[in-house]
Amino acid sequence: MSIQEHVSQVQAAIAAAAAAAGRDPREITLCAATKVQSDETIRAAIAAGITVCGENRVQELLAHLEGDAYHGAQVHFIGHLQTNKVKQVVGKVALIHSVDSQRLLQAIDTQAGKLGICQDILLEVNIAGEESKGGCTPQRAWDLAAEAAECAHVRLRGLMAIPPAAHHPGENRRFFQEMRQLYVDIKGKLGDNQSSMDCLSMGMSGDFTDAIAEGATLVRVGTALFGPRPPMGHSSAVGAL
Ligand SMILES: *Cc1c(COP(=O)(O)O)cnc(C)c1O
Repeated sequence: MSIQEHVSQVQAAIAAAAAAAGRDPREITLCAATKVQSDETIRAAIAAGITVCGENRVQELLAHLEGDAYHGAQVHFIGHLQTNKVKQVVGKVALIHSVDSQRLLQAIDTQAGKLGICQDILLEVNIAGEESKGGCTPQRAWDLAAEAAECAHVRLRGLMAIPPAAHHPGENRRFFQEMRQLYVDIKGKLGDNQSSMDCLSMGMSGDFTDAIAEGATLVRVGTALFGPRPPMGHSSAVGAL
């Protein structure tokens, strides 16, 4: 199948999941998780209708920016972000999904201040409490949301989560429900200050329809668009395809 067909298929699945949940499909953004893809593949995905690309690794982000691969689409940073790499990302992406500590939040605010911009961010929540993963606890998300509201150069747009890989339909629904509730609660509690909260980023190839049923406004999809990836850590893959 061509990328065009994969994109159409995923878009149709998003529309069907939205309709089943009584939601307007236009509320849901499809973010293509482009890790390990080449400039050429990214361009083909954008030509096929992808409007948002999500990058995991700073190195790949910079290489694709250099190659002008994202032309015609927005870029988001969806991977773990180290504080010492903040300078390389702030101002270059429309949204950083993975803010999970005060240190990272402050570093982003400082860098955005230097550039004279306001950086849009999401707080990443480790909703399943997995030790191996980034993200803050739901409890901590409250503090970080309040701290973000005090940052002059950061705008909190919402929350993001990466639950465990789903092997069966429905498996992650309770995590998605918890995320949705946390999102609604934080948004409500922070009031007018946080009227900028409009994004709940959750759902991947294995579970995006469940995420949509539970209120996701952005789904991050890789495999269902681009096919299986080589095992992580091997080919650095930029330009390898
Ligand atoms: C790779 C990745 C995705 C997409 O995963 P698939 O299962 O391939 O759809 C989504 N979010 C993040 C943060 C990722 O790293």
